[in-house]
Formats: sequence, structure tokens, C-alpha cells
Amino acid sequence: MPKFFLPSTTGAIGETVHFTPEDARHIARVLRLTPGTEVRAGDGRGYAYRVLLHTVTPQLVTGEILAKEEEESEPALKIHLYQSLLKGEKMDWVLQKGTEVGIFAFQPFLSSRSVVRPEPAQTGKKQNRWSRIALEAAKQSRRGIIPAVHPLTTIDALPWPAGVPALVAWEGEEEKSLRQVLAAIPKPAELILIIGPEGGFAREEVAFFTDCGALPVSLGPRILRAETAGPVTAALILYHYGEI
Ligand code: SAH
Repeated sequence: MPKFFLPSTTGAIGETVHFTPEDARHIARVLRLTPGTEVRAGDGRGYAYRVLLHTVTPQLVTGEILAKEEEESEPALKIHLYQSLLKGEKMDWVLQKGTEVGIFAFQPFLSSRSVVRPEPAQTGKKQNRWSRIALEAAKQSRRGIIPAVHPLTTIDALPWPAGVPALVAWEGEEEKSLRQVLAAIPKPAELILIIGPEGGFAREEVAFFTDCGALPVSLGPRILRAETAGPVTAALILYHYGEI
């Protein structure tokens, strides 16, 4: 995604668009752009626009859409990361690095060994913070979309869309490596990747995931930290399918 973000544009040519207050300040104060300048802005849904600036003040920047272009940085494979809730800033790390690598959406969930158990009042705040991190990382890494961060849920409420392969990274898996499992799955349009908390998954949880159709995979003989496993495995999956 280009540096500017137009969250609510309809994308019609000729439409007058309002930049966000943050982008307005940046355009007027830092970049000191003037009316009549052309900039590129993204909608976070896979499209970028050439926009001619009209009004430029630190409080308000508007412009007119001249052209619409498809963003080419998006992987053809949409990875949904089902990430067990992690402590402190580890979750921020997963959101930031996972977005850079190319994860499509994040679904945080509580598992039996999740160390933190936020109160409902806190979860909204956390979700806002994570969404903001995903937005910043999407801008920085020039993603075509802003990855969705879904509300924190429980294991039994996780969605299992039909036809979407799911992999659960489990250090107890002794037979199947990631490479072997991926080799048996022709490139899918979407894929679910499930990563456990600091203490790993309980055996019954792995059994639950396999009952839901997920395939257990080993990430090799070294144990990755919970916040490393998601972004690294996502990168390996995208690499395997020719997206990196
Ligand atoms: N506490 C556990 C490790 C948990 S690692 C132990 O010491 O044995 C956190 C999560 O990262 C795991 O739940 C798993 O989803 C993933 N993970 C890390 N290393 C892995 C590996 N070598 N194979 C499979 N999954 C791994």
C-alpha cells in the first residue's frame, strides 16, 4: 500500500476523497505538498489510486481520484493465522512481522495454556492496538491490503471454512514435516495456520484441531518461540508456493 490510506473511498474516478487527519498533517506539515500535486493512496482492500490534491491544510487534505490501479504486492495465497494469545508485547511482534511477511488475516484465540486472560473490557483495547500495528506495518511494507485482526475468541468458536486446508504447528509431531505436508497440498487460495502459546498446546487441543480437519506439522528439531513460529512458518509457506 502506498504511504496514504483512504479507508472509506468508493474508488470511483472523479470522487472527492478526504485523507485521514494523520495523513493530512503529514502531507501538509512534513511533506509540504501543494494543491495540484499528484499522490498515490491505497484503500487497504487491494487497490491504489492516483489522487490530485485539491485542499491542503494540516487539518484537512482533499483530492480527486484520477485513476484506479490494482496493487501487485499481495500474495495469491491468503494465510489466516490462528494465533494463541501471547503475553505482553509478543502479540504486537506477531502482528507486525506477520503483516510484513504477507499474512492475510489474524485470528487471536485463548488456549488452555495462554498465560494472559484479558477481561472483556480490555480485549477491545487490545484489538484496536493490534489493528493499528497491522495498519502501520501494511503501510511500511507496501501491502495491498490491511490484514484484518479479528476479535479474540475461544478454541471452540474458531471458524473452519469448508475446503480451506489447516495446519497446526505442534512440536510433538514426529512424522510430518512442514515440507512434506505442503508437498501434498496443491497451492490453495487460502490456508489456516494454527500456532500455540508459550507453553505449547495441550494434547487434547491438538486432538480437537485434528478432529476439525487440521493437519499437525513439525517445524523441525528446534523449538521456536511462540511469537517467532507464526511469521516464520507463514514465510516458509509463501516461499513454498512461489509467493516470496
Ligand atoms: N513450550 C513448548 C514450546 C512451545 S513453542 C516446549 O518447550 O516444548 C510455541 C508454539 O510454536 C507451539 O505451540 C507450536 O505451535 C509452535 N512451534 C514452535 N516450535 C515448533 C516446532 N519445532 N515444531 C512445531 N511447532 C512448533
